[in-house]
Amino acid sequence: MLIGILGGGQLGRMLALAGYPLGLRFRGLDPNADAPLGQVAELVVAPYDEWQALQRFAVGLDHVTYEFENVPGSTAEFLAAHLPVSPPPEALIRSQDRLEEKRLFQECAIPVPRYAPVSGPHDFAQALDIIPLPALLKTRRLGYDGRGQAHIRSPEELPLAWERLGRVPCLLEELVPFEYEVSLLGVRSRRGEVAFYPLVENRHVEGILAISRAPAPRASTALQTAAQRYVEALLHRLEYVGVLAVEFFVRGDRLLANEMAPRVHNSGHWTIEGAETSQFEQHLRAILGWPLGSTAPRGHSAMINLLGVVPPIESLLALPNTHVHLYGKEPRPRRKLGHVTIRADSAHHCDELLQQVLELVPFFRDGHSEGRG
Ligand code: AMP
Repeated sequence: MLIGILGGGQLGRMLALAGYPLGLRFRGLDPNADAPLGQVAELVVAPYDEWQALQRFAVGLDHVTYEFENVPGSTAEFLAAHLPVSPPPEALIRSQDRLEEKRLFQECAIPVPRYAPVSGPHDFAQALDIIPLPALLKTRRLGYDGRGQAHIRSPEELPLAWERLGRVPCLLEELVPFEYEVSLLGVRSRRGEVAFYPLVENRHVEGILAISRAPAPRASTALQTAAQRYVEALLHRLEYVGVLAVEFFVRGDRLLANEMAPRVHNSGHWTIEGAETSQFEQHLRAILGWPLGSTAPRGHSAMINLLGVVPPIESLLALPNTHVHLYGKEPRPRRKLGHVTIRADSAHHCDELLQQVLELVPFFRDGHSEGRG
């Protein structure tokens, strides 16, 4: 069976690596010739909207999925007219626009931070009336890893920030004084089977995911149940097929949804070693209508992203219970070059090993503190 993957990043590479033991083959599509998936699978190098290249990509495929959420919706819809494409293009399209995404959450009765659309200067006064400062101005489209966002501390900053973000449609969003951030990965198969991984606690640095801990040490059973209820509503509303990640802010026993990713997710990398079935294998099982695997955690896991610089591999491998994944990408500041997963039998041991890894990782050693940058 030949699976086509739109996007050739590390997520595509890990999907392929999980699919080979199941007898699957892969072909990627990516505009960059050095996309990591190309190291392990056939890669069609072309823009996502070049129709002739899309036809070449589609020849002989049994199924199409995507690993990059900014693949044009029209590309997914074009392919869906000829081939099974999952997750459904509607999930991709709604997740590409923060306003559409928030409306979808609200349709599913999922609480979200207060927000107001800001498409131009005529919206400034009303948005400032509704949203207390400090707040965040976020572009509706193409924001990721903290890009496309500006802090607004006083009303005068709003016009300047809107100019700086490129005079594009934005949202003004309340700055949530959250205690911590979590994500929930849910999965729904072509046959309608649904499963959830344990909540993951995520720490961001300058808007980029830096560390995940799973199962989330501070999350109660009630929080897990609430998150599952929200994600299940989305899975059903979208007639979703595949892995869906939803990120939440936590305040006490309340969850506020921040955003969703209709694909395998960085906060699920720990599942490769830390769960009975990895998110990558699970996604493939789901889209092919195969039985889902167990989502049970194997003890406690921590995942550390290697951002911008990779420490000497020997230093990481010398630590016990440490698993290194390098994506074969050229180093650039803040770029996700790989990750390390620690697996331990107790939360305490996991935290101890996490500290040892952080001391080796230049990004953390050089004074990047956790929290918003
Ligand atoms: P995003 O690109 O929306 O996922 O934002 C990246 C990170 O910025 C989030 O994971 C949070 O750490 C932080 N952030 C985003 N929106 C808010 C908000 N409304 N209040 C507080 N922090 C936020």
